[in-house]
Parts: sequence; structure tokens; C-alpha cells
Amino acid sequence: MRTSLIALFLFLAFSPQLLFANGKKVKKIVLDAGHGGKDGGARGKISSEKDLTLDVSLLVGKMIKEYMPDVEVIYTRTTDVYPSLVQRHEIANQNGGDLFISIHVNSTAGRTQRIQTGTKLVKKGKKKVRVPVYKTIHHRETSTSGTETYVLGLHRNSQKEGAIGEYSEEITDETGMLNTNDPQTAIIIAQYTQAYLSRSITLGNKIQQQFYSQGRNDLGVKQKGLEVLAGSAMPGVLIEIGFINNPEEEEYLNSAAGQKEVATAIVKGIMAYKAEAEK
Ligand SMILES: [Zn+2]
Repeated sequence: MRTSLIALFLFLAFSPQLLFANGKKVKKIVLDAGHGGKDGGARGKISSEKDLTLDVSLLVGKMIKEYMPDVEVIYTRTTDVYPSLVQRHEIANQNGGDLFISIHVNSTAGRTQRIQTGTKLVKKGKKKVRVPVYKTIHHRETSTSGTETYVLGLHRNSQKEGAIGEYSEEITDETGMLNTNDPQTAIIIAQYTQAYLSRSITLGNKIQQQFYSQGRNDLGVKQKGLEVLAGSAMPGVLIEIGFINNPEEEEYLNSAAGQKEVATAIVKGIMAYKAEAEK
């Protein structure tokens, strides 16, 4: 008991170096185009989310190869197919990705309004009375605009810890598999998760900054318990690149110039993150 405690303290005392040796290099980036195939995602007037996420992911990948030739790009999909979330995690983890970038398009829930269109006469006992007539209107469109980036919410942490325990090479021993039930290991993994979270926030901020400097509305970096981010053993963000049910933004996201601008913001954000992480 005592020796294991001492070992634990020693380990934690040296853990920054141990944990982050090789940990900060960005050599492999996983690009995840949201939805796909049977899952169209959110729908606008002229397009589906799954097509826009694929277009932008492929463009981001092309630009990464151009501007960061030392970085390998791994896609979770390159065509109109639907990999499950588990399959997306497996692609990311088995390829040993250093960053997980999931691309999505936002949509608001829409608004239902009941308006009076007139009146009518109805029988009430022996009398006829005039009552209002209503009509329900669904407003699908929104004037909300801009981009937001999500990082993993804390309540998903135990799942993230599981993924890190399973795949992270730096903290596995010769047997290749971590015992996540071991309290000592659990503490180390918890530290990892914390580090991944703060790196994810840094990356998110840098990407949002780029969107902002392009004149897009900055909706910020937010935490959410997103399944898609929980299963990958690496820092990750989910970027909502605009609102598909905002007609102006939908048009922008469907244009070649708009897609190029969105991809540029993401790539510049990654480059800024990479430069800082590898300093
Ligand atoms: Zn989506």
C-alpha cells in the first residue's frame, strides 16, 4: 500500500513530462463530416446538412495537405455514407489521431405561432355565437446566424476516460491495455482528460477567432455532452459552421466562396493551435 502510494506520488510529480512527451505534436488530424447516408442531418430550403459537412471536410483536408504537408489527414467519411458514432471513434482511435474535428451545420428548432384568421358562428344551445378561428403557422426560418464550437461537456468524462484508457499508447504498459479499475491509473487518466479538455477549448477559441475575423457572428466555444466527442482519445471539437435554416447563411454555405472561407477559418485555427502546441 505504502509503496504504491509513493510510486503514485513519484509518478504524478513527473507526470507532466511523462504524460506530454510526444503528446503535443499534431501529426494526424481526423476530419469527421457530420451525418451522411441515411442521416441527412438538418435541412434547409436548398440543401441538406450531410452534403455541406462533406464538402467542407474535404476542402479542409485538401487545405491541410497544402498548408501543413507534415500532417496526415484521416477522414471518417469521404462519400455520402453513414458511419455510426462508434465507427467514427474507431477510425479516429485506431489511426492514432492527434485532433478530432467534427463538422456540422446548425439549425434552430423553429417556432410555432397561432394566429387568428377570422371568426365563425357556432351553435351553443339554442343560440349562435361567434368564435374566433385560428391557424397554426410553423416558422422554419431563423434570423440567428454565426458559428459555434463545442468541446466535450464534463458529464461525459467517464466515457472519455474509458476511450483514453483503451487507446492511449503513452500510458499503457507492455501488456498494451490499461487497467482502468486501478485507482492509480484512474488518476492518471483523469489528468489526461483534463489536459485534452483544455487543449480542445484552446483549439475551439482559435477557430472561433478566425470566423470572427472573417466577419461571422461569434456564438462562442461551449461545453456539451456530445457523444461524438466522448469516444475519441484525443482533443476534439465539433464546429457548427452556420445555420441551414437561415436563408442567407444557407446560401453562403452552399457557395464555393463561402465554403472556401469556412474551410480557411478552420485550417487557420488549427495552424495557430499547432504552432502554439508544438512551441
Ligand atoms: Zn449535425
